[in-house]
Amino acid sequence: MAHLWFEGALLEEGWASRVRIQILDGVIASIESEVSPQPADARHGVALPGLCNVHSHGFQRGMAGLSERRGRPDDDFWSWREVMYRFLDRLTPDDIAAITAQAYVEMLESGFTRVGEFHYLHNDVDGRAYADPAETAGAIVAAAEASGIGLTLLPVFYAHGDFGGAAPAPGQRRFLSDRDSFARLVEASRAKLPGDALLGIAPHSLRAVTPGELHAILPLAEGGPIHIHAAEQMKEVEACIAWSGARPVEWLLVNAQVDARWCLIHSTHLTDRECDRLAASGAVAGLCPVTEANLGDGIFPTIRYLEAGGRIGMGTDSNILIDAPGELRALEYSQRLAHRRRALLADEAVPSVGRSLFDATLAGGGRALGATGGLLAGAPADIVALDAQHPALAGADGDKLLDAWIFAARHGAVESVWRSGRKCVSGGRHVAAEAVARRYRATVAALA
Ligand code: ZN
Repeated sequence: MAHLWFEGALLEEGWASRVRIQILDGVIASIESEVSPQPADARHGVALPGLCNVHSHGFQRGMAGLSERRGRPDDDFWSWREVMYRFLDRLTPDDIAAITAQAYVEMLESGFTRVGEFHYLHNDVDGRAYADPAETAGAIVAAAEASGIGLTLLPVFYAHGDFGGAAPAPGQRRFLSDRDSFARLVEASRAKLPGDALLGIAPHSLRAVTPGELHAILPLAEGGPIHIHAAEQMKEVEACIAWSGARPVEWLLVNAQVDARWCLIHSTHLTDRECDRLAASGAVAGLCPVTEANLGDGIFPTIRYLEAGGRIGMGTDSNILIDAPGELRALEYSQRLAHRRRALLADEAVPSVGRSLFDATLAGGGRALGATGGLLAGAPADIVALDAQHPALAGADGDKLLDAWIFAARHGAVESVWRSGRKCVSGGRHVAAEAVARRYRATVAALA
């Protein structure tokens, strides 16, 4: 049993000061507020609940910064995808584990305590299945264990190269399954899950899955989350209309019984009607504003969607720059740039943009990854402590502290992070940061 004492904390019921949290077997056993620390208590700044990162492709961290060169005048998502396919061509399971561990360390250091790994790199370099179909899923599990981050593993079903069951391209050979091999992959992945790791499934996109396959694989989720990429790019929307007469999100809402178990990643290009219907479905929109800006995807209609009661989660997707507050900031700034106004993702009830976005992300992210969160008795002890002495947080408390962290702090504002009661970050650094970074550097150097 351990006791932590905080100057302040954002509890389930709101802000509290002088807070003492008791942790037993990785779970918050009790919370007291307005109390003094006991002599043996570890003393910290301001406690926030850890956030869920709803969308990651861990291996892509290894190519971050390497595709920021102009290759041709019409560089876009699709030409970036070619660079990504070349990068993953040679990755071994050990490479995937080393790169993903680095990504997960950075997630914890920035304030994420659980990750949804949208895992599609299943096959050997020649496209043949490994003897163990969950070989690379094991690499993801190893990365989660090396870093201590909570894992919701989302094995991806990927069978086709485009809408209508088109043949896959050679660059997609490492992703491919059929219905039977995918069922084996899901089972083998489930058998590897450690501790409180969770399993969902992820039909990659309507480009990669036929309607018959989609309906056949959904029961494999066994009540866990279902994630799918949708409407990230206008070319994809236009191809979906040509194939089916409907836009991707529209098609899913009509044909796939989208409900609270679903997380539609990106959902960038929506009509007003799709936006309202997605909000009413109970599904989570998995937004990845930093990656969406990096890839030139477009801007999600966040104001309308939130006004319609829609739920959002945040993902770091390509892991080009891993930063929990940075994703929230990028979402608000995308709306400011589009609408030429300020402080848009808030309302009269909660005027703080930081608090509004944090609350929405905490609730939606937990739903999308099948996890419970928040600082309350019975929840996992997933806690992020901000350094109350950090200059960017000077003079701020309550909701203003969240505004300052999200909009005005550079580095070092996160002082400590506990995941399932285990201290993973101390003094702003992950406890295994050096060892993980050493392995990462060697891996990336060998791939260059
Ligand atoms: Zn993605």
